[in-house]
Amino acid sequence: MTENRPVALVSGGSRGIGRAAVLKLAADGYDVSFCYHSAEDAAEVLAKEVEAAGARAYYERVDVSDAAAVRGWVAATEKELGPVEVAVTSAGITRDKGLVVMSDEDWSSVLSTNLDGVFHVCRAVAFSMMKRRTGSIVNISSVAGVYGNAGQTNYSASKAGIIGFSRSLAKEVGRYGIRVNAVAPGFIDTDMVAAVHDKARDAALKQVALGRMGTPEEVAELISYLAGERSAYITGAVLQIDGGISL
Ligand code: NAD
Repeated sequence: MTENRPVALVSGGSRGIGRAAVLKLAADGYDVSFCYHSAEDAAEVLAKEVEAAGARAYYERVDVSDAAAVRGWVAATEKELGPVEVAVTSAGITRDKGLVVMSDEDWSSVLSTNLDGVFHVCRAVAFSMMKRRTGSIVNISSVAGVYGNAGQTNYSASKAGIIGFSRSLAKEVGRYGIRVNAVAPGFIDTDMVAAVHDKARDAALKQVALGRMGTPEEVAELISYLAGERSAYITGAVLQIDGGISL
């Protein structure tokens, strides 16, 4: 354990893509702070895995749609681990419905978690990054935000919003040495996809040129690349990782 590892912060870290990102960033040499929404046991197990990798871990139950809670989590992270060098926003939900039967709640819960959540996390980390003139932000969008997807007007709007947000922020903070990129995954094998009906899943898989779902670890590789110096001249990019679903 070292005192001066850089710090990475991951929203929605307890499961799926966020969890894989937490472990990859710990292996890359970061101390890692993550938040989770409900699975406290999973968060405890993950923190132990981070520590086993020689990194320090900090975690909190935080609803990313709550701006004050996010500010508190980021402040506690900076106190416990140090200034945040890398932020990854993976917290996200789906409430798939056809538009005409979509409730106000289906719409607002998805927008407030997926899009407001990204706004809250980025705003909470940006000022300190600007003062230190360094930082890398990786926001998790989706191919649904690039191409759209029937039954996901709420989700696609939130994920397209993340792309516009990331590009605008990249322009705003580039002069401070901060990079902002988005990752747009296709069909990745996580709990989120497990909740999709078998029929819809099989139909979606038929669209994937590589003929299989991606793994959270494959997405974490891309997040790791965008987080660190290997991608030092990449900002405002939207990198798809989708097995060719979009071809
Ligand atoms: P998942 O359901 O396995 O994990 C979602 C994570 O978000 C969990 O850790 C959960 O605790 C957290 N979360 C949910 N609501 C939250 C809230 N209000 N506050 C804080 N945390 C909250 O999903 P996943 O597949 O790992 O998805 C991760 C991200 O990747 C999401 O933004 C999702 O939209 C995106 N994505 C996933 C896929 C896919 O195929 N799995 C494809 C494209 C994009």
